[in-house]
Order: sequence, then structure tokens, then C-alpha cells
Amino acid sequence: MLHVDCKVAIIGGGLLGTSIAYFLSAHVKSPESIVLVEQEKNIAQHTSSRNTGKVHAPFLYDPVKKKTFAKAASLGYEMWQKYSDNKGLPFKRDGVLEVALDDMEFSRLQKYMEWGEANGLAKNELQLLDKSEVAKIEPNVRCVSALYCSKDASVDYGALALALMQDLQSFGCKLLLGHRAHQISHSRGAYSITTSQGAEIKTEYIINAAGGSSMDIAHKMRVAENYSDLHFRGEYWQAPQQYKDLTNLSIYSVPKHPEYPFLDPHWIIRADGRREVGPNAVPVFGPYAYGWRRNLADMLPKMIESTKTGALRIVFDKQFLSLASTELKSSLSKTAMINRVREFLPQIRPSAFTKRGTAGIRSSVIDRTGKFVPDTLVLERDSSFHVLNYNSPGATGALPMAANIANRVMEAGALPPGLPRSLWDASAIAEKMKL
Ligand SMILES: Cc1cc2nc3c(=O)[nH]c(=O)nc-3n(C[C@H](O)[C@H](O)[C@H](O)COP(=O)(O)OP(=O)(O)OC[C@H]3O[C@@H](n4cnc5c(N)ncnc54)[C@H](O)[C@@H]3O)c2cc1C
Repeated sequence: MLHVDCKVAIIGGGLLGTSIAYFLSAHVKSPESIVLVEQEKNIAQHTSSRNTGKVHAPFLYDPVKKKTFAKAASLGYEMWQKYSDNKGLPFKRDGVLEVALDDMEFSRLQKYMEWGEANGLAKNELQLLDKSEVAKIEPNVRCVSALYCSKDASVDYGALALALMQDLQSFGCKLLLGHRAHQISHSRGAYSITTSQGAEIKTEYIINAAGGSSMDIAHKMRVAENYSDLHFRGEYWQAPQQYKDLTNLSIYSVPKHPEYPFLDPHWIIRADGRREVGPNAVPVFGPYAYGWRRNLADMLPKMIESTKTGALRIVFDKQFLSLASTELKSSLSKTAMINRVREFLPQIRPSAFTKRGTAGIRSSVIDRTGKFVPDTLVLERDSSFHVLNYNSPGATGALPMAANIANRVMEAGALPPGLPRSLWDASAIAEKMKL
């Protein structure tokens, strides 16, 4: 059996876990006493490489209800820009157009203007456009009005996570790949993590950054027992070459039900120039249910867990069920999915789309009353940190979130500080993250 002794174990090698490991190992005297544990053979194999790849401008986030996400997204932009430049990785400031299809949606755009400014966007970075102004910049888009934001960018988050991994290894942090944290026990001030592959990790501190599995890990440690999670698969369709010049910008539509995690699919331009339609948000039974086999296997355990935590109450929410069925329809029918984007890009034809994109799964937290929790949840208990509900714009905000968490772990005295080696001082970022 493999035995690992460390001071801090970070569970989860997605963007968040690697960013935390990056900051922590760059700021302490003994980075070799930090271990990043990842169940896959490589890091960022799940949501962190299966997303839309946008560095989101923070106009979409209510500065009160989503204050942590809003703050992290507003700091994330410059940080990813600096990091990408430093590593020679793409960071395309390509802007985004958020379109309103009727007057109700227009009032939502006005709200986004207010939120954007409250979240630190400059007046010249956000612009409300009427129909004729939109026609001048995007003649193929149909809408009544739109919000143009110039401070939105496209990146490859998978590549950024790999660069972070190289950095944290060069700082001296240990990496344990291909090990799934399975059992966790706590006695006399120390944790013991047993992995499904037979390793035992002794540690004084645990950071749970396990993405879609973070709720399961929290529950194993008797944390967040009043919460549960639901999983939604976001699917994409790749656009054919013939639509390459349809727009200059990525086009998003105002979400019809922003209180639910159902996204209305967008027209996306990726960092490498690929055009895609997506994502939708199809309810599935687990965080890795990319295909029907895995979804079926996850069904029974999820039903049992939902009964215990009270999450099953969601089935009494009629609006949720109706939205879920729309999403399911757009999973089963390509036409139904593409038609959602045709509402504002009428030239596209479902028959022209023949290849699916890479789906990613979001895990949304609900409370005991069956309501979705709007912001990320960071819970601290008995020398452990748990990051739950870490959804979009989680990739945008990963660096500032991680700096803040690393700083809190150092302040808790888990590891003695050393000379900072990262591109930023974690305590300065943590100061800016203060809400
Ligand atoms: C469809 C979709 C589109 C999105 N688009 C954007 C976007 O454009 N911009 C944006 O900012 N955000 C976006 N997001 C959100 C963003 O991708 C996530 O917030 C972010 O990637 C979460 O990172 P993470 O490290 O928390 O999770 P993950 O990337 O899921 O990483 C968690 C890791 O933990 C590992 N793990 C889990 N359990 C264990 C265990 N027991 N032991 C060891 N390892 C374990 C997993 O294998 C995984 O590698 C999108 C999300 C989705 C689903």
C-alpha cells in the first residue's frame, strides 16, 4: 500500500484545485507537504475542460445574490490575461453580444447594465444597442435590442490548467494522479484518506475542490448535510464551416429563467475559432454521466441520496419539471436545440449540424426546501475547506477564488509562509476578494 504523509491534501485536480495548489505551493516554505489528489490520469478532465471557454464579464451576476461569483469574475479577467500572456496561451478579447428578443428581456438588459457597473465594469465597456445599431455590427442577428460588452474573452481552460500543473510541480507540490479519495476519517487532529486504488494519505488539512463530487465528499465528512446537488449535462453542437462568417461575436440570449440553472443555448465562438451552439442543461443522475450507460448506473444511488437529503422535493416544483422537459427535448432532438438559437440567428439550419461538441456537467446545489443556492458555498470545518456549487463563472473566477482560499488556509496556520513565487501575492488578491 502507498503511504503519503502531508500537511494539506487538496482533493480534485480541476481548475479550482490546481489553482489552489498553485497559490499554496507558491507561498509556503515547504510546498512538498502539499498533495493534490486527482482521480483521473491527468488533471482537468471534467468540467474544467468541458465548458464554453469564456472569461465572462461580470454583468450577468447579481452583486448581492451572487456576490462571490461576481467578485471573482471581475478579478479573474486581468489575472487570466496576465497568466495566458506569461505562458504564451491564447487569450482573445473578443467581446459578447447579449440579445433581447422582446421588451421584457430588454428590461433584463437594463438590469445587466446596472450589475455590470456595480461589479466594476467601466461605462465604455458596456453598451446598450437598439435594433438598428445591432444590425450595423451583426447584420445576421435578429433581436429588439442588445447589450454589447467588449470585456469578454475566449481561452482554453484545459491548457491553462495544464500550465498551472507544471508551475505547481516546479514549486515542489506533490501530485497524486489516478487516485480517487474514497474513505475519509478524522482522529486526534489528523485525517486519513484512503483512495479506491489503495493509497493512504495522512494529512492535517483537507481542501475539497472535487467539483461535481464535492458534495459527496462533504457528506462523507458530515459537512453540508442540509444540502444536496443536482446534475445537468450541457451539450453542444459544432457548427459547419458554412457558418464561419455568420457573426463576429459570440451571441448570448437573455436567460428565460435565470433562477434555475437551465441555460438557453448560445452561439459561441471559441478561442480556436470553432463555432458552436450550446450548452443546454439536461438533468442527469451524476457528475460524470456523459453517456446513457453511466447515467443509468448513477440513477439508483442518486434517488436514494435525494430521498435522504430531501432533494426529491424538487419534483413538486412544476416550473422546474416543465423546464427540465424542454431541456430533455433539446437533448433528444437536434432540431429542438438548434431552433432555440435560430430565434436570434434565423439563418442557421438544424440539418447542417452533424457533429456534437464536448458535453460538460454542472452540479447545482439545492437546500432542504428544494431551492437552488445562487452563489458558491465555501464551508470551513475542523481543518477542512469545502467549495460547493462552484459553477459558471467558476472557470473565470478560479484564480482569485483559489488565492483567497490559499490565503485562508495559511492564515489558519496550516503551513508556515515562505517567499511568494506566483505571479500574484495571494494576500493582496484575498484582500480584494473581501465582500
Ligand atoms: C457546460 C458548461 C459550460 C461552462 N462554461 C463556462 C465558461 O464559459 N466560463 C466559466 O467561467 N465557467 C464555465 N463553466 C463553469 C466552469 O467550467 C466550472 O465552474 C469549473 O470548471 C469548475 O472547476 P472545478 O475545478 O471546481 O471542477 P472540475 O473541473 O470538475 O474538477 C474537479 C476535479 O475533481 C476530481 N475529483 C472528483 N472527485 C474526486 C475524488 N473523490 N478524488 C480525487 N479526485 C476527484 C475530478 O476528477 C475533477 O478533475 C461551465 C460549466 C459547464 C458545465
